[in-house]
Amino acid sequence: MGSVQKIAVVGAGIGGLAAASMLADQGHDVTVFDQFDTPRPVGSGLVIQPIGQSVLDCVGAGDLARAKGNFISRMLGHVEPSGRRVLDVHYDAKHGLQRGLAIHRASLFDALFQAAKNRDIALQSSAVIKSASAGVLTTADGQQFGPFDLVVDSAGAGSPLSPIVSRPLAYGAIWGTVDWPETDLPNDYLSQCYRRADRMVGVLPIGTLPGDDRPKAAIFWSMPSGAHADWVAGGIDAWRDAATALWPAFAPFAAQITQTDQMTMARYTHGTLRKPYGNGIVHIGDAAHRASPQLGQGANMALLDAVALAKAVSVAGVDAAPALYAKARRWHVWAFQAMSAAFTPQYQSDSTFLPKLRDHVMFPVSQIWPAPHVLTQIVRGTILPPMGRLSHIGKPDFR
Ligand SMILES: Cc1cc2nc3c(=O)[nH]c(=O)nc-3n(C[C@H](O)[C@H](O)[C@H](O)COP(=O)(O)OP(=O)(O)OC[C@H]3O[C@@H](n4cnc5c(N)ncnc54)[C@H](O)[C@@H]3O)c2cc1C
Repeated sequence: MGSVQKIAVVGAGIGGLAAASMLADQGHDVTVFDQFDTPRPVGSGLVIQPIGQSVLDCVGAGDLARAKGNFISRMLGHVEPSGRRVLDVHYDAKHGLQRGLAIHRASLFDALFQAAKNRDIALQSSAVIKSASAGVLTTADGQQFGPFDLVVDSAGAGSPLSPIVSRPLAYGAIWGTVDWPETDLPNDYLSQCYRRADRMVGVLPIGTLPGDDRPKAAIFWSMPSGAHADWVAGGIDAWRDAATALWPAFAPFAAQITQTDQMTMARYTHGTLRKPYGNGIVHIGDAAHRASPQLGQGANMALLDAVALAKAVSVAGVDAAPALYAKARRWHVWAFQAMSAAFTPQYQSDSTFLPKLRDHVMFPVSQIWPAPHVLTQIVRGTILPPMGRLSHIGKPDFR
């Protein structure tokens, strides 16, 4: 191992906790900063693709994540009122690691946080980082920390350290977590229902929460980014009636939402840093690239960034690592950002043409060999080597 370096990780989220663990394993002196006062996650469910699960295994968080999460084998979407299938992607493998792991963010956070706590990592909570300069971090209340040999910006989509310019997307969604009810919907599918592209409603079985053994579902309902206030004003009864009329199978999920604050509005942006590093700082995860969750890759990408950065530090040291990390991740990030930008308007936009294209051209073509195989590789995140020549250096090996 090379010399011990002082590394600050800003943001104890998905990418930050994974990076902190892997850098600590190399013997570096790692401090994680987060704005929270006590460790806590926010949000609802997401899917960790097989490639991301191997990163969880690498940091020792895989077993706990699998124990709490729920494997999904298929993503199935249909349009109403016709009931026609317009999305059907299989993970097409029987073994656990080849499927998507649907999990509540609280359970994922718990698994990553437990793994980080097993290492010699310092945690600085209640630290709202405002800026980083020459390796010195400054908080909103004027405290300074450092200097550090490297600052890892993993502060997510709202990072104050990232120079990213992102474009707001026209549509977002409200998200909530409910108990998995008596239902005919399969508990290993992501099930979605669409009306053109202006309405998308979905159910994701996400396993259990820390301290609660009842299986849960993440539910979501798309809406224009500026429509949340109208939705609140319209009242919960009107929404439940509309949701159930659109998709009757959604009724037992919607019935558990009795107050508007059970559903949280998520607005999405799209943007990519051309150069995800600067003087003594490197940006990973949503701080480096943002997209809608349509392809289910954001958490995956944050985990892949974390492992690419750790591999780069191990082979090149902290000074050269940011450029090596950026080069290694460039094509994979670029490809998924481009696909997300292309696919999202087919499912979330005011277009009347794109959903017709989706239903009558894209979906039929997607069912003809080799398209199903290609789609599975896209969803798994393995359509391209995830980190160039770093893919097979150290662990995990992505060959
Ligand atoms: C509704 C929704 C659904 C999604 N579904 C999926 C999915 O199915 N699959 C998928 O792969 N991805 C999904 N994503 C995307 C995924 O959640 C993100 O891409 C991922 O969390 C990014 O990880 P990160 O480590 O970059 O940031 P985060 O996990 O967001 O962590 C950022 C951390 O930084 C901290 N922080 C922020 N600002 C500061 C500050 N100034 N000072 C100190 N700390 C700070 C925060 O408290 C937080 O702990 C979804 C996103 C949303 C919003």
